[in-house]
Amino acid sequence: MGVAHLSKQLRALLIGMLGPTLQAMGVVWDLLEHGVFARGEIGSLTLEHIVSGPAHLMMATGLALSAICIPIALQVAAASPEELARPEDISGDAELAGELRTAEAAK
Ligand SMILES: [Zn+2]
Repeated sequence: MGVAHLSKQLRALLIGMLGPTLQAMGVVWDLLEHGVFARGEIGSLTLEHIVSGPAHLMMATGLALSAICIPIALQVAAASPEELARPEDISGDAELAGELRTAEAAK
């Protein structure tokens, strides 16, 4: 049960980190591209580069993934308290069964 709970939290974290990680990779790639490979072009950023540059596309994809995945991650994380509440239901059922047995014995 504890392992299932941990994997659920881990899954939520992984889903939530997917977009931001892609964005961060895009930023690093773009910084490398502008800072290392095209040092002279830093002052002349064209609209074409911003729209069609692979690093910028990666950042845009990361942003879109964040917008899609973070609400999903929050939903996955929010499902955990229900899972934690389940053992209480089971013990509640056991209590009910015990009461029924007591009622049975009283007959
Ligand atoms: Zn760029």
